[in-house]
Parts: sequence; C-alpha cells; structure tokens
Amino acid sequence: TEEMLRKSDKLSIVGQLAASIAHEIRNPLTSLKGFIQLFLENRDVDAGRYYLIMHDELSRIEHIMSELLLLAKPQVKSYKSTEVKSLVSFVSTLLERHALVQNIHIITDVEDDLPFVLGEENELKQVLINLIKNGIEAMSDGGVVLVKAFKEDDQVKVQVIDQGCGIPKDRIDRLGEPFFTTKEKGTGLGMMVSYKIMKEHNGDISIESTLGKGTIITLSFPVHTN
Ligand code: ADP
Ligand code: MG
Repeated sequence: TEEMLRKSDKLSIVGQLAASIAHEIRNPLTSLKGFIQLFLENRDVDAGRYYLIMHDELSRIEHIMSELLLLAKPQVKSYKSTEVKSLVSFVSTLLERHALVQNIHIITDVEDDLPFVLGEENELKQVLINLIKNGIEAMSDGGVVLVKAFKEDDQVKVQVIDQGCGIPKDRIDRLGEPFFTTKEKGTGLGMMVSYKIMKEHNGDISIESTLGKGTIITLSFPVHTN
C-alpha cells in the first residue's frame, strides 16, 4: 500500500515541538543532576560506572541538539538549479564506508538527462543522508540500499529503497512526528527534518513498505525549467 503523507500541518505546531524538545532534554538532565547530587552527598562513592552513564546522557543531549540546530539555525539559503546525479553520488560516497562496515552496499541508478530541480543543496543532501541512514539501520543482516532517480509525471523522483525490516502501517502514520523513534539511540528527528525540507522545496515524500521485505521512500520534486 502506498501512503501519501503530507505532514505540513503537524510541522506548524511549534508549541508541540517545543514541548517535546523540553521533555527529551529534561530526562537526561534530571539523571545527570541526580548523579552529581549523589557525588556531592557521598564523596567516597565509586564514580567510575556512573561516569559511563553520564557520558551517554550527555551524548544524547549533544546528538539531539545538533539535529535541532540544523532546523533552528537561520541559514542563508541559496536555491539553485541543482543536478540530482551529483547530489546522489556525493551522498552515496559519503555514506559508503559507514554502510560497508555493516555489510551494506549503496547502489545508485540515476536516469540520463534527468531535469534539474530547484533546491538548497545542503538541505537536499541532508534529506538523502537521513533516508539512506534509515535504510542502513533497517537492515541488520546487510544488503543493498538502492538510490534511484528518474522523471515521472512531470516530476523528478528520487527513491531510497532498502531491503530492511519494513514499517508497520500504524507506524507509517507517525513518521515525521518529532522524536518518534523505535531505535535505542534514535532521535526521531530525521524524518521530521526531511518532511520540513521537502515542503520548502514544494516537494513531497511518500512511503511504501512491506514488513520483512523492505521500504521505498519516494521524494518528488517539481521539474525546474530555467
Ligand atoms: P531515527 O532514525 O532517529 O529513529 P527518524 O525520524 O529518521 O528517526 O525515523 C523514525 C522512525 O521511523 C525510526 O525509528 C524507524 O522506526 C522508522 N523508519 C524510518 N525509516 C525506516 C526504514 N527505511 N525502515 C524501517 N523503519 C524506518
Ligand atoms: Mg533516522
């Protein structure tokens, strides 16, 4: 089944976002404060094993912050006529090694003479990175992530296709919700950022998934004619 998702309404709910950010940051902060309290009250406590947990909590805050900064930073954006082929090859080269460590090959297949899209290059890279990373993380036994780009119905489509665990239907509806993650070390911000960026590009994201077989995420862009 194909789910066309338009999460733009959700993204405009700034209050909801602020609340969830506050929540996500407060939990690790509370635990950090607890440990420091413990050390202050009992100076002989063997701190070694607590430092490890404290370090993990700090890393989590750091990770959430760096993803948020990408969203919040008032970036000087420059929308340019952008060639999809070079974007795809840049990102696949970037993630190639990271994928190989997990026995995953990233394969690209970009149609010749594909029209350009109007885009902010760094943001489009960010979307592709988010999607390919999700594909990699969905394949615990290795496999292939295929990145395809082609023209269809007057649109440029870029697909990220994995052979991973797939996404249950009820979960597809929640993708793009801030902090929705099923991963122990996930932030649940990747899809939200991707929806936001695609919306700014007058584009769209659709998701097709089969449990146990894999997932196809399709980005659609209007063709850019000079
Ligand atoms: P994160 O990757 O940090 O968990 P995302 O916003 O990127 O956050 O993804 C949210 C959730 O969507 C993931 O935790 C996962 O459950 C699900 N998901 C996204 N992409 C895929 C995929 N290709 N295959 C399976 N599940 C996925
Ligand atoms: Mg992700």
